[in-house]
Parts: sequence; structure tokens; C-alpha cells
Amino acid sequence: MPDAAGGDEMKQAKEIEDAEKFNFMATVTKAPKKIQFADDMQEFTKFPTKSGRRSLSRSISQSSTDSYSSAASYTDSSDDEEGTPREKHQTNSKGSSNFCVKNIKQAEFGRREIEIAEQDMSALISLRKRAQGEKPLAGAKIVGCTHITAQTAVLIETLCALGAQCRWSACNIYSTQNEVAAALAEAGVAVFSWKGESEDDFWWCIDRCVNMDGWQPNMILDDGGDLTHWVYKKYPNVFKKIRGIVEESVTGVHRLYQLSKAGKLCVPAMNVNDSVTKQKFDNLYCCRESILDGLKRTTDVMFGGKQVVVCGYGEVGKGCCAALKALGAIVYITEIDPICALQACMDGFRVVKLNEVIRQMDVVITCTGNKNVVTREHLDRMKNSCIVCNMGHSNTEIDVTSLRTPELTWERVRSQVDHIIWPDGKRVVLLAEGRLLNLSCSTVPTFVLSITATTQALALIELYNAPEGRYKQDVYLLPKKMDEYVASLHLPSFDAHLTELTDDQAKYMGLNKNGPFKPNYYRY
Ligand code: NAD
Repeated sequence: MPDAAGGDEMKQAKEIEDAEKFNFMATVTKAPKKIQFADDMQEFTKFPTKSGRRSLSRSISQSSTDSYSSAASYTDSSDDEEGTPREKHQTNSKGSSNFCVKNIKQAEFGRREIEIAEQDMSALISLRKRAQGEKPLAGAKIVGCTHITAQTAVLIETLCALGAQCRWSACNIYSTQNEVAAALAEAGVAVFSWKGESEDDFWWCIDRCVNMDGWQPNMILDDGGDLTHWVYKKYPNVFKKIRGIVEESVTGVHRLYQLSKAGKLCVPAMNVNDSVTKQKFDNLYCCRESILDGLKRTTDVMFGGKQVVVCGYGEVGKGCCAALKALGAIVYITEIDPICALQACMDGFRVVKLNEVIRQMDVVITCTGNKNVVTREHLDRMKNSCIVCNMGHSNTEIDVTSLRTPELTWERVRSQVDHIIWPDGKRVVLLAEGRLLNLSCSTVPTFVLSITATTQALALIELYNAPEGRYKQDVYLLPKKMDEYVASLHLPSFDAHLTELTDDQAKYMGLNKNGPFKPNYYRY
């Protein structure tokens, strides 16, 4: 059962304060605190059946839309070769055909993309350099299911440099950069993925990663839970060898907690999604950078003086609002939580109910993680040319289904941009059909992906090297020392100089000079 807040947290924080400095090989001596999730999460153990095809598709797209870190794809859809890669026999320059990608001939182009990504992922590269002598992942057989982009390729190649063998498929049927998959295949990684997979291809690719004669995975790196799901469904015996699961996405983590609650989680799992270095950077800073990009690319809107309402003032909302405010937009906030509402007030925003302002808004942005935040009634009352988009959860925040009625006309004006036209001629501009704006219409900054990828690499190292008994069959947060370590690896990019505690100060504060510097309950 999850620990209670308060006393237990204090105790654990103290324990972690006493722990020694983390140095790649997982020296944190106490298991991190488990965190609790709501009861009403989706049932992980309901595996897809033929009649369950629809919900299975939804599971694919949901996984793909709530994992944010690496979804941008630059691949031109006009790849020169037609037909499904499953029917093609391809070999890399060393004669290996242990992969399935769109076109192996794109490897050189993909290599350049990976090299460009490496330039902004110097912390991950530095981890690679520091640890490749020790090979902390020697013997690790990692089966991975993530977006396959240049940034993920840097992660995969880092894991290989640290000693792991990897087999990889994509967690999203659209996000694979074909040229990057080709470059990985050329470099000897068993990658099974291409942009525009069918649903059947999607599961086939996962299966090819797990089901291989003479090779059994002992670690899982998942993004969305589909790989974990597949192994549970088809190859439960594989879990006898698995040392741990590292999961990045909200949905995947929810599924793991669901399994844990049902007593069905049979290996330790690391929840990377809730690491400070994921949540406070990916959600806040990534959205601060990508909200304007997504809006500009799709609409060319000028922000100065525009009236914008942002629903939800959590991490994502705070990031969006900071960017919009900086460009001179007049920003309103809606919130259900008085603490976040008060934060918004202190940051200089007007907190309103959506009904009160909807008529005069130029832009409406949802970032709540909730559903039906913008209803048909709101959409009916919007003014002509109002732009509506979602930065929060999947495609549930805006009631897009309510717009698919006979009296409204949909006009696709650009890729990812629809005009919804009311009988009186009013047009509402809907972006990405209510799906995540930044993932659908812009790219995500490589530097943020470096932070998340470094966190994933450390989580794998920690689980793989943890002595027997440190982690039980449950879901854990990354030890704070590792979060701090991930951050410290990224500081040199800014030539940031950290102040060191003197012995006297460390004693006064009751801290170890090498960290951790904050208790687990600290909120940043
Ligand atoms: P959060 O919990 O910090 O913030 C959500 C806020 O919305 C909370 O303060 C909550 O009180 C508020 N809220 C909930 N229902 C509301 C309603 N009906 N009206 C107004 N406010 C409401 O979460 P977060 O980290 O900001 O993430 C928000 C969503 O964005 C999640 O679904 C998350 O998965 C997603 N996300 C998106 C990206 C991206 O790149 N677009 C990145 C990270 C997370």
C-alpha cells in the first residue's frame, strides 16, 4: 500500500538525506516512496479481443498522445518506396536483416539527424562517456517501445554504449522518423518500426521485439504501456527474467499502478513520469516553448493584445501562460483548485469562469488533464475566428464530437487546421482536432528530451543494478539523488556554476554536502 503522507514522508526524506552520493551504480540505499493514484483508472488487464479492436486503437492513440517527450517526426510522408516493409527483405551493410524499417537506404540521412540531436543532448552524451568504461548495463537485454526519433536514437545508442543489447519498436504509429529507424538498423539495433504502421503492424513490431529465438529481454523501457501489456498477455513467462520496467507516460504509469493495486505486478517498475526532472521540465518548460510554435505554425496569429483563456494552471498551464504573457497577450485563467487559482492571481492573471469570458476570447487553450472542459455550449458562444486548441490530455478536453453535427460545416484549411462553420457564417478555428497541439503541429525541444532520456537511462541502470530486495513488485519513483544527478549533468550546457555547501553550512542545514538537497516532499 502507498505510504501515508506526513510522518512517513518525513522519515523517508531523512533516510534519503542520509544516503550516500549517487555514482551511476545505484548507491541509493533506501527504496523511494511509492505514490498513490486514483481508483478509477482504466483496467490494464482487459486485453484486446477481436471485438475490442476499437478500444485497442484508442489505446494506441492515447498512449501516443500522453507521452510527450519525443513525438515530433520530421519524416516526409512521401517516402520513396511503397508497400509495407513487412514484405520487403532488407539487409544492412553488414548483412544483417534483424530489423524491419521503411527503407534502410535512408540510414545516412538518419545518421545526420541523430548527430544533430546529439549536439543538444550533451548531458546524455556525457553520461555515455562517463559510464561506458564501467558498462553498467552489461548483460542487459532491453526491449523498448517509445517514439522512434533522432532524440530517442541518442538514448538507444547510449544504452548500447553502456553495455545493453536493445530491440525496439514504436509506441506511436505515426511518430517514427523512418530515416532514424534506418540509421539505427544500419548501426545494428534490432528496430521494428516505420511511420504509418497499421494497427496490425504495430503489434507485429512489438511482437518481433519480444519473441525472438535465443534472446529474452530482462528489462523493459515502455512509453504508454502497450509493450508491457503485450508481454503480460502473450509471454507472461518472460517476466521471470525481467528485472524491471521503466515507464514514461501518464497512461502507462496509471496502468502499472492499476496492476500493482490488483497484486498483479510481478516485477519492480520505475515511474519516470513523476520524476521532478520529467514533470517540472517536460510539462512546464517544454510547453512554454512549444505552445507559441504550434499556434504560429498553424494560424500565423499575432499574440500582442489578444485575449486568451487558459484552462488549468498546473505545470502545462503555467508554461503556456508565461509564453503568452511575454508576447503581450491578455491572459485569463480558469481553475478548479484554489491553490493554483491563487498562484495565477499572484502571477498577475485574472481568474474567471469560462462562461464569463468565452464571448470575447480570441484563443482558448485547455491544459487540465480533464474532459469536456470546453463544451458545445462554449463553442456556440465563441466569437468569429476564435482559435481553440488543447495542450493537456489526449483529445478529451474539448468536446469535438459535439461539433460533428449536420448543421455545422467542417472545412480543412491547412494540415491540422479546421474551420468549423456555423449556419450564420461564424467560424471557429479548431487545431489538431482537439489533440495535443504541440505534438501534432510543432516539434518538442531536443534539450528537454535529453533531460527525460537521461532520467530513463538512469532508471534502467538503477533497476538493473539494484541488489535483490531493494525494489519489490511495485511502482517506484526515481530516487531524488538521481533526479539531482540528471539536473547536474545538464548544468554545464549553461556554464552554470553550482555553489558548494561548506562543512559548517551542511551541518547547520542537516544536509550531506553531496545531496540530496531537498526532502521528498519538497515541491520545487
Ligand atoms: P497539473 O495537474 O499540474 O495541472 C492541471 C490543472 O488543471 C490542475 O491545476 C487542475 O486543478 C486544473 N483543472 C482540472 N480540471 C479543470 C477544469 N475543469 N477547469 C479548469 N481547471 C481544471 O497537470 P499538468 O502537468 O499541467 O498536465 C496537464 C495535462 O497536460 C495532463 O493531461 C498532462 O498529461 C498533459 N501534458 C501535456 C504536455 C504537452 O506537451 N502538451 C506535456 C506534459 C503533460
